[in-house]
Amino acid sequence: MSAIRGKLLCWYDEAGRDLPWRHTRDPYAVWVSEVMLQQTRVETVIPYYERFLESFPNARALAEADEDTVLSHWSGLGYYRRARLLHQGVREVVAEYGGEVPEDADARRALPGVGRYTAGAIGSIAFDKEEPVVDGNVTRVLARLLRIKTPIGSSATTNKLWEEAARLVPGERPGDLNQALMELGATVCTPKQPRCESCPVAERCEGLAHGEVEALPVARARK
Ligand code: SF4
Repeated sequence: MSAIRGKLLCWYDEAGRDLPWRHTRDPYAVWVSEVMLQQTRVETVIPYYERFLESFPNARALAEADEDTVLSHWSGLGYYRRARLLHQGVREVVAEYGGEVPEDADARRALPGVGRYTAGAIGSIAFDKEEPVVDGNVTRVLARLLRIKTPIGSSATTNKLWEEAARLVPGERPGDLNQALMELGATVCTPKQPRCESCPVAERCEGLAHGEVEALPVARARK
């Protein structure tokens, strides 16, 4: 695992995209970016993220805004439930924690709209905690790299993915490690025509070694 870790971090330093939320370790800003990035493409998110942070630069500013104002900043991004939950979560941070996103993982996970993924992203990126993240990109990378052949979406696969992600994350720069995994899935280990020839972990990829890259991850059987 440590060799994979080192290669991922080196590659991320060289090839990671320069995105606005990668210039901050403010847990509130990381939270906003992660919520926006759920179900929305990076290129679409960038101007929304910048405008949102300009209008609501911190948790207190967002908590004090009324819902209509918040939603107007979300207009065009879709999935408005995300914005409502973010607003509620941030209000709770102000009411319960004086406006500071809690460092404690359990407290973070208890916030409205903050699931295991978002809590892990905030924890690792903003607080340097060794907390894993598993999203669609990480699922694809790990399923191929470790040749996980059980169907995605099953509880066995989900547990396995989180376990493997948790095995990878401990060590220096856990936030960058998580972002490297997600970035690899977004730019190299893509759903179609992955660029294995440019992949930093190709030598260690079980899926590639077995000629099964295209067959992984295994989709859940349709009923
Ligand atoms: Fe994905 Fe190919 Fe890299 Fe394996 S070698 S992790 S399949 S890009």
